[in-house]
Amino acid sequence: MKRNIKNLTIPELQDYLVSVSEPKYRANQIFQKIYVQRVATFDEIANLPKSLRQKLTNDFDISSFNSSKSQHSSDGTIKFLFELKDGSAIESVLIPCEYTDEAKKNRRTLCISSQAGCSLNCTFCATGKLKFKRNLSASEIVDQVLAVEKQIGSKLTNIVFMGMGEPLLNYENVKKAVEILTNPEIQLIKKKKLTISTAGIIPKIIQLADDNLPVKLALSLHAPTQDLRKKLMPSAGKWKFDELIESIEYYYRKTKTPVTFEYILFEGLNDRPEDIKRLAKLAKRVPAKINLIPFHTIEFTNPTGFASELKPASKGKIQWFRKELLKLDVQSFQRTSSGLDIDAACGQLALKSLRENKQ
Ligand code: SAH
Repeated sequence: MKRNIKNLTIPELQDYLVSVSEPKYRANQIFQKIYVQRVATFDEIANLPKSLRQKLTNDFDISSFNSSKSQHSSDGTIKFLFELKDGSAIESVLIPCEYTDEAKKNRRTLCISSQAGCSLNCTFCATGKLKFKRNLSASEIVDQVLAVEKQIGSKLTNIVFMGMGEPLLNYENVKKAVEILTNPEIQLIKKKKLTISTAGIIPKIIQLADDNLPVKLALSLHAPTQDLRKKLMPSAGKWKFDELIESIEYYYRKTKTPVTFEYILFEGLNDRPEDIKRLAKLAKRVPAKINLIPFHTIEFTNPTGFASELKPASKGKIQWFRKELLKLDVQSFQRTSSGLDIDAACGQLALKSLRENKQ
């Protein structure tokens, strides 16, 4: 299999050019043509000599995908299914704007995947029910953005690593993809308009802080105590709760970037008055906001045991929870459930359409 050219940063592309006796400055020209003009073949890069176009064609692929399909929701959400070169599949979700005010109304957010499948087994998440297949390469991450922009014919304004997989368990490729996506020469996305959401991998949160990548961080907290967190997230919940929160404090000290805590509301489990008090206390340890997420059921994965007992908190309960947090001076937002009718809401990405096709 050929290498994909989108796995190369500019310095790496320069190294390649030197190795094939070509001048380094061509790297910038190639980058421009691939990411700004979006050529589909190296032959379209007219400002390169034919011999170099031929070398590039022999050595590299441009696209990471064999095919793509999309499904449209009645609320404007679009779910994309991409088949990778080795036959694995991933999903990305384009979320329509949830705001009506002028400043935010033109937002187009893409939720992208970092892994094919997921190795964490969070009880509430459909992706966790798939086996972990592999980490995505930087090109497979970047190509989700390019393929969606091509299909919708406009630029994305925000990107969130909230699709399939745990981005911090694919740290090096995610970092490279972030570097390419935010490269000022091609500016696919503005700095800090990219959010990495993690189930909480402490050493990698520390590394992210030290590397100071131009991203925002969201932590999937979901429980205000270690005991409940471990039940809900058997793998990620093994990290010591206090150390996890300390790593978030470290992240803030290093980056000065406020953090988002993600919190799915489960009826009777984490939506009680004592949970509000604990959550508010945690959220005040760094400048933070809380995203309250309605639980999207994943019955189609036939959950068993504890997973089958999970129930969504009612709409009224979520509103009450928000008001109570506000009384304690903690801001929270309620995430919408965009794309529920096509199984594209948070936690529902499990390649369902693929399985249905096979039946
Ligand atoms: N592994 C990363 C990113 C993927 S999940 C992480 O854990 O953050 C993106 C978000 O959707 C996470 O906050 C995740 O906990 C949440 N989520 C997973 N399953 C869900 C479900 N069934 N309903 C609502 N949110 C869910």
